[in-house]
Order: sequence, then structure tokens, then C-alpha cells
Amino acid sequence: MLSVSEAQAIIRDRAKPLPAVATLLAPDCLGLVLAEDIAADVDMPPFDKALMDGYAVRVEDLEEGRAILQVVDEVTAGQMPRCPVSRGRAVRIMTGAPVPEGAEAVVIVERTRPLDEKSVLIEDRPAKVGQNILCRGKEMRQGEVILSRGTVLRPQELALLASVGRPWVNAHPRPVAAVLPTGDELVEPDEVPGPGQIRNSNGPLLEAQVQRAGSHPYSLGIGRDRPDHLQALIGEGLKRSMLVLSGGVSAGKLDLVPGILRELGVEPHFHKVEMKPGKPVFFGSRGETLVFGLPGNPVSSLVCFELFVRPAIRRQAGHQDIGPTIVRAKLLEDFAYLSDRPTYHPAWLTSTDEGWQVQPTPWFGSSDMRGLLQANAFVLLPAGTACHRGGQLFSVLKVDD
Ligand code: AMP
Ligand code: MG
Repeated sequence: MLSVSEAQAIIRDRAKPLPAVATLLAPDCLGLVLAEDIAADVDMPPFDKALMDGYAVRVEDLEEGRAILQVVDEVTAGQMPRCPVSRGRAVRIMTGAPVPEGAEAVVIVERTRPLDEKSVLIEDRPAKVGQNILCRGKEMRQGEVILSRGTVLRPQELALLASVGRPWVNAHPRPVAAVLPTGDELVEPDEVPGPGQIRNSNGPLLEAQVQRAGSHPYSLGIGRDRPDHLQALIGEGLKRSMLVLSGGVSAGKLDLVPGILRELGVEPHFHKVEMKPGKPVFFGSRGETLVFGLPGNPVSSLVCFELFVRPAIRRQAGHQDIGPTIVRAKLLEDFAYLSDRPTYHPAWLTSTDEGWQVQPTPWFGSSDMRGLLQANAFVLLPAGTACHRGGQLFSVLKVDD
């Protein structure tokens, strides 16, 4: 049987970044990945700029730090200076305003006292050339590449794009992942389950995971364990960049999903991975659409999503780093647990001065979603070991960031 890392390698090979599209920049672009290099269209700052409110002066007038200077002009942000600064003269200047010609430094207003309309007393240390001035082009030069393809958009990237006159960019779009929980036993959350029925919790689970991974969820409702019904819904889901199914992939009588996927032209890449929970997980593709069949047990669905689906979403979204995030953490105490498969056990992961520490949380197995309320991670317990030793390092899958 395939190991988790072999399965992840197969997914990495198949998942391709979605073609870039011109995207109008707005807050909902946060997290998108740039698909082009961006050059500055202006020098920044576009002029020598005052960084403080005060007086623009020549340093020769302030060799002692103290002088009375003639005030010849005042310049505020958005204006251009009207007169240069020459020996014995100063210009009153505000933060963000262009520094007048001849001025070499700005003395902050707190170190000055106006004597009358036309003169100012300065009592400061000796002035240095460039003091409180940001020279033209210091932050960026016109034509210089300031953002490269592959950059993930955060608020600061959006601000920088605005400042270089880019209200739109070529970016990889968010993938759309269709979500299809399947099972005759499922009823909607607002229904009261009849005999033998349970509520569909995987729908909300997977749609939320899709959203958290940076993709748009597209709900297909509940698929029933009937070929015609599944065919119609799966056909609809295959029109998106990704289709995520839950249930119907194991070896039961009504586990119809892999057969129907095949009939609809989905090429299988793997079915079954050496892990617990989640062993029957299926991965295939049709054209550029990736298809995941996750086992129906809620915790299996959740773990398989984080290990396999989320990295695929991130690849389609254009990310270089597609995860999942695995850290090495010290097990706090001895933990008795034996399985014939490597197990992702719910756990609480904390960052301490001595590094990551992890503590498994109580859990009743792959259907026990409630047990996950006390968990923020999964500790990977190797197969065939009855007692996992406190103080030793284990791999831990982070899921809550
Ligand atoms: P299956 O993979 O279809 O054999 O389902 C395995 C287990 O997961 C069964 O106990 C199902 O009732 C349960 N299950 C399947 N789908 C869902 C769902 N959407 N929400 C909650 N539990 C589910
Ligand atoms: Mg089922």
C-alpha cells in the first residue's frame, strides 16, 4: 500500500497552477498569488521628502546647533517649494513635503522657536546632511522589479501595488472545489434523523476546510447511494477545478463512488493509503480537474483533506509552499496506543521556550468529531509500537492555521 508521502508526491505531480487572470485588486484578493513580476512606474519617494515637521536648513548655518534664521517660505505636503534655501535662511516644512533646493537637513519643530513671522531660533545639535530627509528613489526606482511572480498578496503588497499604479494584476484565481457528501443514511442538519439516519456533518466540514485552504466551496447537496443520482452530481462537480467527495469509497456494497468516477472518465491515481484514519482515500483526475474521494467517517475526511486536498488547492492557487505543515514536537508523557498502520491521533500542540510540545487528546476513533474540539493538531504515531515514549520527538500535522 502507498505511504502518505508517496500519495502526496503523486498529487504534487498532478496538481497544476490555474492559468492566471487579470484581477482587480480589492481586499478579497488577500492570499492570491501573483503570476507576473511588477515594476515600479515611479521613483519612490518621487522627490526628496521631509520626514518630520520642522525647518529645512543648510548644515553650515548649524555647525554649533544654534542659529537665528530668516524664514523665506512654507511648504506643506502636496505643494512644491517656491524658493530655495540659501545661507542664513530656512523654509518651514511639513512631513511629506518636497525639500526645497539648497536645503540639506530638516530640524524638527520641537527644537525651534519662532521669534516673529519671518525668523526662527533653532536650538539643536549640529545638523547633518540628509537629516530627516528621504532622498528621491530611496525606496524604489522607476523600472525596478519590486514584486516577483509567486508572491502571496498581503495588505502590504496591495498597498505597494496601489503606490506603483497597479489597480489590477495577473494572479492565479482561487480554485473552486465542489463538495459532495454521499450516503443514503444522511439527512440535512435542519432535519430530525429517522431510524438509521445521521445528519450530514461532512458537508459543512469540507466546505469550511475548502474555504480555509483559500478556495471557493461549491455545494452539490447530498449524493444518494444510487448510480443515476451520483452520476448527475459528479458530472456537475467535474466542471470545477476540483471535486471533493465524502463517503462511498470503501469496500461496502454501496460504495459506488470509484466505479462511477471511472465510468465518467476519471483516471484513478491511487485508492488506499497506509494510514489511520483514512485508509480508503481515492485520488484521480479528469483533464485538469482533480478528484478526491474521502472516507465518510468525519475525522477520516478531515485528516485526508489536510494531508491531500489542501496541498492540491494550494498548488492550483499558485503557491510554491503547499504544505501540509509538519513540525517535530516532544511528546509530553508516555502514551499507550497500538495500531498496524501509522496513525494521525488528535493532539494538542504548544510552542514553548524548549520548542514544540505535543499531548494526545482523548479520542474514540474516526467517527469522533467531538474529540477534536480539544485538539489543534494530529500527532503521527508509528505503526506497531505499543507505548510511545514521553520526551521523544514525533511528527505533528498542524491544522489550525
Ligand atoms: P462510508 O465511507 O460511506 O462507508 O461512511 C463511513 C461512515 O461515515 C459511516 O458511518 C457514515 O454514516 C459516516 N458518514 C458518511 N458520510 C457522512 C457525512 N456526510 N456526515 C457524517 N457522517 C458521515
Ligand atoms: Mg456510505
